Amino acid sequence: MTSMKGSAITAEAVPAEVDVAIIGAGMAGTTLAILLGKAGRKVALIDPHRVHHDEFRAEKIGADQMRLFAKLDLEETVMRHVTSVTDIHVFRLGQLFAREQKWEYTFSYGPMINGLRDALPPQVPITVGKVAEVSTGPDLQRLVLADGRVINARLLVVATGHSEAVRRAIGVERVEHSKAHSLSLGFDLAIPRGECAYPAVTCYGKRAADRVAYLTVFPVGDKMRANMFVYRTVADQWTRDFRADPQKMLCELMPEISAQCGNFAVASPVEIRQVNLTTTQGHRRNGVVFIGDAFCTTCPTPGVGIGRVMIDVDRLHSVHIPRWLETPGMAADKIGAFYDDPVKVASDEAGMRVSFYAKRITTETGLEWRARRLRNNTARQLMIIGRKVRQLGFRREPGLA
Ligand SMILES: Cc1cc2nc3c(=O)[nH]c(=O)nc-3n(C[C@H](O)[C@H](O)[C@H](O)COP(=O)(O)OP(=O)(O)OC[C@H]3O[C@@H](n4cnc5c(N)ncnc54)[C@H](O)[C@@H]3O)c2cc1C
Repeated sequence: MTSMKGSAITAEAVPAEVDVAIIGAGMAGTTLAILLGKAGRKVALIDPHRVHHDEFRAEKIGADQMRLFAKLDLEETVMRHVTSVTDIHVFRLGQLFAREQKWEYTFSYGPMINGLRDALPPQVPITVGKVAEVSTGPDLQRLVLADGRVINARLLVVATGHSEAVRRAIGVERVEHSKAHSLSLGFDLAIPRGECAYPAVTCYGKRAADRVAYLTVFPVGDKMRANMFVYRTVADQWTRDFRADPQKMLCELMPEISAQCGNFAVASPVEIRQVNLTTTQGHRRNGVVFIGDAFCTTCPTPGVGIGRVMIDVDRLHSVHIPRWLETPGMAADKIGAFYDDPVKVASDEAGMRVSFYAKRITTETGLEWRARRLRNNTARQLMIIGRKVRQLGFRREPGLA
């Protein structure tokens, strides 16, 4: 049995015996609890906070991720908390490169998680509390909360995101594959949605030395929000300068879109999050499974985090948990089927691969990467020129006729 420090909280009714106990009611834990609850499983969902605070996390998903929610019958709930965006103006090399008509869905993370929690079936309430003791085994998992309540479960799911307390208590370690891999910066623009020249815009960095992956500006409700992904550390002078005067630095970095974005006047503090690329070791254990960011973290730059989390949830809910509960016991070899699931493995590996690639193609200065950038940028320049020539051709056509 492993103990953790925890403060006492108000006691409330808790299912003492459940099929599945889930620690962490974020994106992974809440969606899994909804699905298992709807399937008639007895579930306990434990989180220290009834209301998820509004932290800077995922603020945008694409059509592929929305399809995953649709597959799990969660699309309607998710759609209630998003702003739908299309017609994305993409700038590369300082020029308009493309207008993408694909769909994107933007949101604030806290309200999205709270909206999902509201969709929990009545028989799966959130148990607000801190886990003080965890013991796991081949048959029974036992949780003791800080106020003394006890939950017994056949399976324990750890979905505590970046938090380390529960992982450490179980004896599971993070493996750092790229520490301080990138920084994500989030802030509101002062320009109202109706006055921004673009419905949404993505502007890529121009020079390797800038270490900027891209800036994305998009509406969330009536406001315009910006996320920027850079390959810097919190301690860099650049980061301190950006926090002090984001407007000046954005106008210098991306003058091609500044006027259209209200000269980058900023209406909120700049939130800055460091991202580390991590996986987990020592997780093949009796009775417990780690999912979402509690298992693996990738970089937000390629925007694959929520997709990865929802693949974990889908595979567990639709394949593994029903099989595991069918037969007695919950030994490590049974649970290993999830970690070896080819769909999950491919999703995690792809997330890690694109996270490394996005950094290398932006910042590496070795010959191979400079050659790759040159090749890509030459192809893009040709596309920009081709589009301009076609536009000129169309303009001339009436005169020629
Ligand atoms: C800055 C940033 C920007 C991102 N942008 C994108 C993006 O644009 N698109 C994208 O797809 N992905 C993005 N991601 C990734 C995405 O946000 C994460 O992959 C996803 O939110 C992880 O969900 P999760 O359920 O694993 O963790 P979380 O949603 O963080 O949930 C963890 C839960 O565990 C609870 N918890 C913690 N400790 C305990 C404890 N001891 N006991 C009980 N409960 C506990 C917390 O309260 C929380 O509710 C971004 C990530 C970051 C950091």
